[in-house]
Parts: sequence; structure tokens; C-alpha cells
Amino acid sequence: MTRAEIEAKVDKLATQVRRDYLDRNPVLICVLKGSFVFTADLVRRLDFPLEIEFVQLSSYGKGTESSGKIKVEKYLRYPIEGRDVLVTEDIVDTGITIAFLLDYLRREKPASLKLCALVDKPSRRQVQVAIDYLGFTVPDKFLVGYGLDCDENFRYLPDICVLEEQP
Ligand code: 5GP
Ligand code: MG
Repeated sequence: MTRAEIEAKVDKLATQVRRDYLDRNPVLICVLKGSFVFTADLVRRLDFPLEIEFVQLSSYGKGTESSGKIKVEKYLRYPIEGRDVLVTEDIVDTGITIAFLLDYLRREKPASLKLCALVDKPSRRQVQVAIDYLGFTVPDKFLVGYGLDCDENFRYLPDICVLEEQP
């Protein structure tokens, strides 16, 4: 996806989020690290009161293969009970990471809980996840750029690119 395609998509997502959350002072929860660029671009298009929180989970070890295990690196610091919560995630792949996070957040009793994901890879899904606001649906390729990394590299790239396999 080129930066122009990403911009147009984030515009569209911001319009939808604005329509639904305008008077609700929502809490946006950015899932670090991959979602930081997307979340920043999204909130810059939102012109109403909202709060931003960060959580960090890691399911991927080194390289492009998931370890299958989720490690919680950083939890919420403020209560979300009774709040309208929108999680902003970079990619929903197997769904394991985001399903784990949504279960955890649900136990904190938010008034509502929805998911906004920039990219969906439905062919890899192992756990059902409802994505309320979705950017792109892509085939099973490993993506980098626009916040997405491979071993912490490539996050700075302005476009989302397919990482070619090593020969
Ligand atoms: P899941 O638990 O859904 O399998 O994995 C979700 C997380 O793995 C995403 O939030 C993302 O951080 C990472 N991930 C999944 N697919 C890709 C990909 O193609 N590229 C990168 N850089 N990260 C990915
Ligand atoms: Mg992520």
C-alpha cells in the first residue's frame, strides 16, 4: 500500500470513527509498537475530545514467525470502567493477540469496546475476532513499514511493503 492509499484509507476510518464517537469522549487504546504510526495519523484527523492509552503485547519473537505466545509488556495505567473504548491495532493475523487483549479489556468493564484495525489477514485466522473499523484486507504476506517491523527494522518506511523472502 502506498502512502497515498494509506492516507485515503485513514481518512475514511477517521470519518467513521468521528461519526460514532463525536460526543462520547472515547479512550483510544493503541497497541504498541506496530500501531503507533497508524494511531497517530488517525487521531490527528479527529477533532473532538478523546483520550489515548497505550498497551504493549508481543506475540512475535524474532523474524516473521509468530511464537504463538503472548507477552504483556505494558498494561493500562488508568481505569476504563464505564468508558467507550476503541482499540487501534495494526494487523489482525491469527487473531490471538487481539482476542487476548479484548478479553482482558472486557474484564475492566468498559461501556463499549470496539476494534479498529488497519490491516486484516483473514486467511491466517485461528481465533474469531470482530473488526468494527477496517482499513485493508490482504493475503498472507509479511508486511513492513508504516510502523510495522521485522526485527525492529523498517518501521520508518512511509509505505506498507511486502517483505520478500530471503534467498
Ligand atoms: P496475531 O496474534 O493476530 O497473529 O498477530 C498480531 C500481531 O502480529 C500484529 O499486531 C502485528 O504486530 C504482528 N503481525 C502480524 N502480521 C504481521 C506482518 O505481516 N508484519 C508485521 N510487521 N507484523 C505482523
Ligand atoms: Mg501489533
